[in-house]
Amino acid sequence: MSYIKSEDPKLYEAMQNEFDRQNNNIELIASENFVSQAVLEAQGSTLTNKYAEGYPGKRYYGGCEHVDVVESLAIDRLKEIFGAEYANVQPHSGSQANMGVYFSILEPGDTVLGMNLSHGGHLTHGSPVNFSGKLYNFVEYGVTKDTERIDYDALLEQAKKEQPKLILAGASAYPFEIDFKKFREIADEVGAYFMVDMAHIAGLVAAGLHQNPVPYADFVTSTTHKTMRGPRGGFILAKEKYTKELNKIIFPGIQGGPLMHVIAGKAVAFREALQPEFKTYQAQVIKNAQALGARLSEKGLRIVGGGTDNHLVLVDVKSYGLTGKIAEEALDEIGITCNKNMIPFDEASPFVTSGIRLGAPAMTSRGFNEADMEQVADLIVETLNRVKEEASLEGLQEKVHALTAKYPLYK
Ligand code: PLP
Repeated sequence: MSYIKSEDPKLYEAMQNEFDRQNNNIELIASENFVSQAVLEAQGSTLTNKYAEGYPGKRYYGGCEHVDVVESLAIDRLKEIFGAEYANVQPHSGSQANMGVYFSILEPGDTVLGMNLSHGGHLTHGSPVNFSGKLYNFVEYGVTKDTERIDYDALLEQAKKEQPKLILAGASAYPFEIDFKKFREIADEVGAYFMVDMAHIAGLVAAGLHQNPVPYADFVTSTTHKTMRGPRGGFILAKEKYTKELNKIIFPGIQGGPLMHVIAGKAVAFREALQPEFKTYQAQVIKNAQALGARLSEKGLRIVGGGTDNHLVLVDVKSYGLTGKIAEEALDEIGITCNKNMIPFDEASPFVTSGIRLGAPAMTSRGFNEADMEQVADLIVETLNRVKEEASLEGLQEKVHALTAKYPLYK
């Protein structure tokens, strides 16, 4: 960063501080990860200079012959990873990928069956403050009180009653495997489209460690920056028959020029996802999340649903006499970064919450194993205990730094 350092010291300082924060802290935000140096390189490249409205071979600007190669590589690799007939790598974000699908098949006011936000769903799955909730009639399904898992029989009954045009599966805070085949059967029974937003679990799916939604869903959307470990962005996969409509909706429908430097970063990440090491990494992500959850549970914290099948653990801190907000703030103070999160049937507001969401993808990229995650769990419990007793958190940050120093970021 020598140019920024000499030309813009104020900005340089903030960026350097952010690097130090990432390097020194334990990153447990389930939707974050650390990309490879190659992804960083692609994103900092001269491809950011290029306008390329349109698609490979059919652009509205000259000079696109090289970025055509870049985008085609990203598309072909993505199709190969998931066995998809169609891929669009241009959505700037997961939200825009979802908007693209909604706009291609829904009219304002149409009914969509999506997951309840406090049971794990995402803002773009019908939150009243999001375009999705404002434009469409979202009806929510959730998890059962006893198992804290999706009840597919109840979902079928609800689908029959509501007659949605679209059924949406996928979540931001659901720690269990989702049965996409069952969702498809339910969608078929009521004549609905079936869409999966696999933003959180895409990396696990790519590695064959979660059921692949592509054979079952009409549309699959995702982000590229969570378990997929690519640059920030989104993509859409679909059956070939939707090609024309989806291409038209993304450009010119809701976006202008694609971010070619980001698409290059996606191409890099998709190549990485095709390597055998990616499968080893994703398997370790699951082992680490399970080790973290098991240790927290051993020490007396209630884990929502009793455990995890994937990369994240939802912890009920109310059972410990705390709120998610207090837990998040205390952990932040010692250098453990996570987020407060609603838990199923939460009575607290979204600003307070009764839970925290902990994810393993980022620290697994740093090299953490199960033993390290157990130490992280011990630090979390120690912090929450001290908060409960109104004791000082002194000395804990040093322990966090000792752990992260073992695995430097971007050596
Ligand atoms: N879908 C799900 C399930 C998510 O968890 C998220 C982000 O957290 C998104 C979509 C939106 O992605 P973005 O932040 O890139 O718009």
